[in-house]
Amino acid sequence: MRIEEGIPLAKLTTIGTGGPATALARPASLAELEQALAWAQERGLGVAVVGLGSNLLAADEGVDSLVLRLAGELADVRAEGELLVAGGGATNAVSLHRARAAGLGGFEFACAIPGTAGGGVWMNAGAYGSDWSEILVRARIVTADGSGWLTPAELGLSYRHSELRHGQVVAEVEHRLVPRPVGEIRERVAAFVAQRKATQPTNKRTFGSVFKNPEHELGAGRMLEECGLKGYRLGGAIISPKHANFIENADGATTADAVALMAEARRRARDRFGVDLVHEVELLGPIELDP
Ligand SMILES: Cc1cc2nc3c(=O)[nH]c(=O)nc-3n(C[C@H](O)[C@H](O)[C@H](O)COP(=O)(O)OP(=O)(O)OC[C@H]3O[C@@H](n4cnc5c(N)ncnc54)[C@H](O)[C@@H]3O)c2cc1C
Repeated sequence: MRIEEGIPLAKLTTIGTGGPATALARPASLAELEQALAWAQERGLGVAVVGLGSNLLAADEGVDSLVLRLAGELADVRAEGELLVAGGGATNAVSLHRARAAGLGGFEFACAIPGTAGGGVWMNAGAYGSDWSEILVRARIVTADGSGWLTPAELGLSYRHSELRHGQVVAEVEHRLVPRPVGEIRERVAAFVAQRKATQPTNKRTFGSVFKNPEHELGAGRMLEECGLKGYRLGGAIISPKHANFIENADGATTADAVALMAEARRRARDRFGVDLVHEVELLGPIELDP
């Protein structure tokens, strides 16, 4: 397995920002993953996995870690009865395709979540009233010290949260789905996708929702809209004119631009609504932002 150096994380994130990783490896099997983890441990280097980078802001200065992108067997998907077994690097698009081909429903909620199985578990990603905790049976977590299977309760899955930490790699997952006619799956997916296109900037470079929805009658997006932030721009990053809980890379944005927008959005929401918004996006590398 090749170890690459200095690859800009801007190439691996959907927002298109981020400096270089110290090292990047693309393990394609459990054995290669173990080798990569041992390689990092020998050098005292931290490890972070990047899925599709669709919920990730990586520091402009770079990330002093071995970054892993799971490939090959670790990105495969197969149906086994009512189980959908996926590598941690399997994209949601491929998982949905395999589920539909096997006549299995329950994964449709992820049709507009442009991530991987591992990112889904880490974030307990969700939409349309479902999330990963509802379909996950167990996940195989690999670290430099060994490997084991954890259930959703053991992973501590709650609203857009798990207890996973960098160095713990989601290598494989088992999802329990339900038999469903293919036509019905297609209809549900088409309805979800149409809803997305109508309300969110699906054709722009973003990292999905910036903030979690607070316990408030208004969601984060509506709150920021009422603060007059739609279309507000700093550097190359802009708060989406379509949905205020999205930041778009308008033109050569940096992570610092996006973080500055987030700080301003939090300040305004605190002043106007007395609410401390909590960011949903994951931060990788040295990035300063209040919790
Ligand atoms: C247009 C758009 C729409 C979106 N809509 C939604 C939505 O409706 N609902 C929602 O919940 N999210 C949404 N998101 C956010 C994002 O797609 C999800 O959080 C997704 O699950 C992230 O998966 P990923 O593989 O891209 O993870 P990444 O962004 O690459 O990583 C996210 C975190 O997971 C960790 N990680 C990733 N893979 C692994 C692994 N195999 N093992 C260990 N850790 C891992 C990373 O280290 C990082 O901390 C959206 C994003 C975009 C751009």
